[in-house]
Amino acid sequence: MPEFKTLDDLGDVTGKVALVRVDLNLPMKDGSATDVTRVEASMPTILELADAGAKVLLLAHFGRPKGERHSTLSTSFVQGDVERVLGREIMFISEVAGPVVEQSLSILRNGDIGLLDNVRFWPGEEANDPDFARAIATLGDFYVNDAFSAAHRAHASTEGLAHLLPAYAGRAMEKELTALDKALGNPETPVAAVVGGAKVSTKLDVLENLVGRVQHLIIGGGMANTFLAARGVDVGKSLCEHDLTATANAIMDKADHAGCTIHLPYDVVVATEFAANPPSLRTCNVHEVGSDEMILDIGPQATEALADVLKTCRTLVWNGPLGAFETEPFDTATVALAKTAAALTQDGSLTSVAGGGDTVAALNHAGVADGFSYVSTAGGAFLEWMEGKELPGVAALAR
Ligand code: ADP
Ligand code: MG
Repeated sequence: MPEFKTLDDLGDVTGKVALVRVDLNLPMKDGSATDVTRVEASMPTILELADAGAKVLLLAHFGRPKGERHSTLSTSFVQGDVERVLGREIMFISEVAGPVVEQSLSILRNGDIGLLDNVRFWPGEEANDPDFARAIATLGDFYVNDAFSAAHRAHASTEGLAHLLPAYAGRAMEKELTALDKALGNPETPVAAVVGGAKVSTKLDVLENLVGRVQHLIIGGGMANTFLAARGVDVGKSLCEHDLTATANAIMDKADHAGCTIHLPYDVVVATEFAANPPSLRTCNVHEVGSDEMILDIGPQATEALADVLKTCRTLVWNGPLGAFETEPFDTATVALAKTAAALTQDGSLTSVAGGGDTVAALNHAGVADGFSYVSTAGGAFLEWMEGKELPGVAALAR
């Protein structure tokens, strides 16, 4: 993990202006946020800086305005949500740089919080334009990045600013980086990775990276079908990317050479139609899938074998459900293995880190998200991290 400065490295911040990049890209319905997890994540950073006497300017994007002002995409829409979470009033500022921000700063007292408008209203943000970044930086004394979820983008507010001001990781960023480092950067071995989800094609880079770094690679979900097919299994009508047979074989070869065991299911749950509890539902060996059947979950024997694998491991990283978990009973394997992982974590024998939009939903559905060591809600940034890529927003924080 690159070394980075945290809020612990800040001296006296009284009266100083903190430019704090946060994630306020909240899911909205009828004008209000349906989930404020992202605000809650950055609350410790914001309040710590404010309580230490800094003037805190929050910097964030909201939706995809593509470099133009959009009346419906102003961060003023989430001002109320941020105030509710923080339990404080904040000042909305309709710009990110220039005289309007300067004037606002002269009104803000030490410990006050200002919310700048959507940084993506300006084309310089996504272009990472140095002049744009400089105009923002001029107003601040230091920069804090607390938005890991945006760290895979090299934008002015996620990357550029870190080169222009003393730069620090916020508390949420620090927590995320520490957890991810424990899972793949510098993990206790053996390490198991669960990779599931619909398609191999969306996770090729993830698989390629993991085979070189983990001892057990557990493949489930629709993508397991592609690997089974590559091994000569007839997967019937299952979701399967037959054009990726060679790729799947190359990944399996690479795993062999790296000493990574790939685990594919040997029993599966199948049906002829994709519906909840269909009459055609049955469990069978992978070699017995009918030509009119689809594999929609891994079977009970495979699930038990995987639980035994996790019991021998010290670290687990998980992305992607093992089956079509949104539809019953194809959530069974995912729920069972997630419960095993959570129990092992609570026993202290496993460090478990999970991420991915549907993965987080599946763990919440299983009721075990709190039982994992860390669950990342970062989406794209989490996947790029699993791909072994350097995240520009993280790299720029390195001292
Ligand atoms: P994440 O968002 O966590 O990265 P993905 O988007 O890659 O996960 O995959 C999740 C999707 O994969 C879910 O919608 C799930 O229904 C689907 N899926 C899992 N197993 C199967 C399967 N056997 N057949 C079809 N779809 C599947
Ligand atoms: Mg998804």
